[in-house]
Amino acid sequence: MVVSFHRPTRVVVDLAAIKENIRAQQPYLAENQTIFAVVKANGYGHGVLAVAKAAKEAGATGFCVATLDEGIELRTAGFTEPIFILGPIDLSGLKWASKYQLSLPVTSLAYLEDLIAQAEQLSLSKDNHLLLHLAIDSGMGRIGFRENQSLQTAISLIEQQANLVWEGIFTHFATADEADRSYWQQQFSRFESVLASLPRQPKYVHVSNSATLLWQKPIGNVIRMGISMYGLNPSGEALQLPVALKPALSLVSALTQVKLVEKGEGIGYGKTYETKASEWIGTVPIGYADGFIRKFQGFSLLVDGYECEIVGRVCMDQLMIRLPKELPLGTEVVIIGKSKDKENSLQDLANYVDTIHYEIACLISARVPRVYV
Ligand code: PLP
Repeated sequence: MVVSFHRPTRVVVDLAAIKENIRAQQPYLAENQTIFAVVKANGYGHGVLAVAKAAKEAGATGFCVATLDEGIELRTAGFTEPIFILGPIDLSGLKWASKYQLSLPVTSLAYLEDLIAQAEQLSLSKDNHLLLHLAIDSGMGRIGFRENQSLQTAISLIEQQANLVWEGIFTHFATADEADRSYWQQQFSRFESVLASLPRQPKYVHVSNSATLLWQKPIGNVIRMGISMYGLNPSGEALQLPVALKPALSLVSALTQVKLVEKGEGIGYGKTYETKASEWIGTVPIGYADGFIRKFQGFSLLVDGYECEIVGRVCMDQLMIRLPKELPLGTEVVIIGKSKDKENSLQDLANYVDTIHYEIACLISARVPRVYV
């Protein structure tokens, strides 16, 4: 997809905020722990390469991504730090994991057996080994081993292969961002007993996302820090942050047309809005193809400190807002961020469409340029 630079809609990312957020959380780490920045999904919509660079400058010593291709993107951009892929890869990509030294999750014994069969066909040299992390499903129900016998078999199988390296073990918590700690505690205990059953500890043990670091007990030596690095509360509004974080992302655009529309005229597809009086209507070049979904109809964007309601349906590439008065073409429209004394936070948008801020940030499409301040 081509990035649309020739219109005023852009994501603005404050890289200093990302660095500050990482540094602010350093005191929560134990001495043996280090931060790996979770930069999957284009750095949660913030732009992967710039975020990775900022995170590294602030002390992150590795990265986590979701897919093989995201790992390759980081490597080819020159990052030499360890990169964990958090989701199982299609084994047809094994040679790339080896070539780019990307650490892979092993999710079951069957998956490992397939992996070993594929690896034999690649005839990997000792220098081209595959770095493997055993995924433990301690209660997320997503990926990983659920019972110990197959885990132990997997470990001995890996240890027998010259070109496989058992580099890590990890799990993921489902409720680390909730006040009720009971399920988190149950998952934690299960993982602790898995750790106790291991013949040895691999180089990396990692269990902690942002919420676990901030509110629970982070064991292991790598913290997989995602949302808090971007300045957002992992729990949404459920739990209070123990540390001040600064949101790094804004989304801005500008008025491309301003007109006075007489009373009783329709606005947008389906004529779902009719002007109640003679109204100033502004057009803004952002729509659902940019990830700004139709459910935002009725939400207010900020123009010069005014809250301006989105009237009519959000179109694919544009939307219309009701202005308080005639405003010049090119006037900035803030979709996410501050305008004078007003602010639209990612959380506000998430609340409006009944979702979480993670989703709103990730939805902003590749068409929208990312610029950095
Ligand atoms: N680890 C895993 C396995 C994940 O799936 C995620 C995010 O989805 C993270 C870590 C980072 O979580 P957070 O962004 O809440 O810090």
